[in-house]
Amino acid sequence: MNDPHLDLPSLREYRHVVIVTGAGISAESGIATYRAAGSGWNDQHLEWRSHTARYGNFLPELWQFWGSLRAATTAAAPNPAHLALAAAEARTLQAGGSFLVATQNIDGLHQRAGSRDVIELHGSIHRTRCVRRACTGPHLDGRLPEQGAPLSCETCGKPARPDVVLFGESLAAADQRRVRQALRSADLCVYVGTSGNVWPVAGFVDEAAAAGARCVLVNADPWDEPNLRFSDTFLGPAGTILPAILGA
Ligand code: NAD
Repeated sequence: MNDPHLDLPSLREYRHVVIVTGAGISAESGIATYRAAGSGWNDQHLEWRSHTARYGNFLPELWQFWGSLRAATTAAAPNPAHLALAAAEARTLQAGGSFLVATQNIDGLHQRAGSRDVIELHGSIHRTRCVRRACTGPHLDGRLPEQGAPLSCETCGKPARPDVVLFGESLAAADQRRVRQALRSADLCVYVGTSGNVWPVAGFVDEAAAAGARCVLVNADPWDEPNLRFSDTFLGPAGTILPAILGA
């Protein structure tokens, strides 16, 4: 395990890069992680109510949570970790390589930092869609709910929901295919700010390692169950470590 206070290696020379991010990369932008005490995410009631089989019964309460997250992430700014990834993407593409960010985050901060190729595996809190699949599809929506009143679909008036993957729902198959395709030709795979507890994302590192990529973990804390596929683990804030390993 490397000490982040020692000299960090430069990973600039890699040409086919897959970055896998989680809530920790946005912590320095002021967005609480899932695990952070009092974040609201790990509230058992919220988790139970957010299940796809039940959420329709709890829309007023759920929209209070989703609305506050929409407001907080809109007010937040990308931090040096997001910016380092956007700059590394631009440089890698200019050198004829490929660079994909696969994020579990729903906050939109990668795109706002300038990253262009971003797969939002869990959707986006900034998009809304009608609860009826046959109605209008996901669209950007900055509306915030009134106290106790869920947002409704602007086309049909039925309830609306954010375009995020709820508990009990599957990740889009096309998104997973795209990430796996990139992993098969990756020479570098960097996980950033994720506890590695959520599947299938936790398993992407195995696929990257099988393809021969160098696998690197950047996280504030070591994983509860270490994955030996990572050849390097840099413990510390992503906003310090990513600019050091991917920057100038
Ligand atoms: P998690 O909360 O389980 O783990 C976050 C990890 O980030 C922890 O291991 C922690 O040590 C690390 N971390 C905290 N601050 C860091 C920093 N400054 N630099 C580097 N690492 C840091 O998050 P997860 O693994 O992403 O899974 C949580 C789920 O909750 C995801 O599905 C995600 O969609 C959702 N979520 C999203 C957001 C968001 O969009 N910003 C926020 C909270 C939760």
